[in-house]
Amino acid sequence: MTMKPRGPCGRLPVVDDLAALDHRHVWHPFTDMAAWVDDEPLIIDRAEGCWLYDSHGRRYLDGNASLWVNVHGHRRAELDDAIRTQLDRVAHTTFLGLSNPPAIELAARLTALAPGELDRVFFSESGASAVEVALKMAYAYHLFRGEGHRSLFVSMDGAYHGDTVGSVSVGRVDVFHDTYRPLLFPTRGFAQPYCYRCPLGLTYPVCDLACADTLDDILARDGDRVAAVVVEPLVQGAAGIITAPDGHLRRVAEIARRHGVLLVADEVATGFGRTGTLFACEAEGVAPDLMAVGKSLTGGYLPMSATLATDEIFEAFTAGGHTFFHGHSYSGNPLAAAVALANLDLFEADATLTNARLLANVLATETARLTPLRPVGEIRQRGLMCGIELVEDRDTRRPFPAAARIGARVCRAAREQGLVIRPLGDTIVVMPALAMQPDDVRFLVDVLIKCISEIAGP
Ligand code: PLP
Repeated sequence: MTMKPRGPCGRLPVVDDLAALDHRHVWHPFTDMAAWVDDEPLIIDRAEGCWLYDSHGRRYLDGNASLWVNVHGHRRAELDDAIRTQLDRVAHTTFLGLSNPPAIELAARLTALAPGELDRVFFSESGASAVEVALKMAYAYHLFRGEGHRSLFVSMDGAYHGDTVGSVSVGRVDVFHDTYRPLLFPTRGFAQPYCYRCPLGLTYPVCDLACADTLDDILARDGDRVAAVVVEPLVQGAAGIITAPDGHLRRVAEIARRHGVLLVADEVATGFGRTGTLFACEAEGVAPDLMAVGKSLTGGYLPMSATLATDEIFEAFTAGGHTFFHGHSYSGNPLAAAVALANLDLFEADATLTNARLLANVLATETARLTPLRPVGEIRQRGLMCGIELVEDRDTRRPFPAAARIGARVCRAAREQGLVIRPLGDTIVVMPALAMQPDDVRFLVDVLIKCISEIAGP
């Protein structure tokens, strides 16, 4: 074994070649690392508003809000200041047995804003952990009420709830999850509302939301063993921005309620205005029993997530003297909580929701310019979550062969034009920050028109 040359404190000598060091030492998430090392990594050095600047000073529009987290743009003075102010007090103290002012205030404000009767807040750091916590709370709630046989979870086909083993168990994206099947606990899946490729071969609205009724069938059969139904309300993000038709979420919630099982709303992607309302559940008047939030909770600044629970669930623990044996080193981190509070303040000060709805109209008008391109099979949009599904044959909706990697190549070409976006298979995901400027949305669509026609065809 050769020894690496190290400087003081084990640091490698300073070198200019960040790209080489990245290729040699970094393992990137959701990245084909064999292909990664054949390409020049895009190394982001700084950002301003919705624009990212790489280590060579080139700029790129942040077309996916830094993986669906950024709300008000990068380097917003109010958010930067909130972190600095908290930093002058303390960066972190444990939340196990101690509390801190920003996390207390944040819990209170979240419960005031959340749909339904969600009055308790449990903090974590990632969306996956927030879902994991919801699953454990749901199971334990039933257990402590003498119904420990309710250990089964039901989720939608195509669901993505994060990457911890519990959240993968309720996930249903084969390409991500199949490798780990032997490690997962058993769950049931019901049909997803993917109208462009309806799993039941039906057409909306004549179908009368038959996909949601497949949940009814599962609960009629196995309902007394089910702890909870877990859903991404209104939009299934990682499945390819699958937008549910009106009434679908309400129907799912009614079915869960009728069978006496809990409803877990995973608002990690949809929360904080991305679908048009602060939380997607509001749009259909749905009150979940548990709700997971993350991503934009801190405006896209720091890793923090939360699981909101009803008092009824909380009291199932306290009434029997049960502790929730779960928690993390950085639970309730004060810096993250401080910036989350400043994020909520900006929603009010900037009328972010109103502006986001106007921007969603701009996005719809602009993406309509893509429809003449033959590879554009369907454009799905809900608020500022948008997916453009590319197909080889628009008439038959036949997909491109996976090996052609059309979505990945379109996004790689977009980078050369100054736009950062990521595909989900051959669906190009467009997810502007809520505060993006209309001109930037126009630029984004101009680049897409150029790259889709060059790579996938005119
Ligand atoms: N749930 C949903 C609906 C998501 O879209 C995601 C991430 O995209 C997660 C959970 C996982 O969040 P995180 O990546 O923060 O663990």
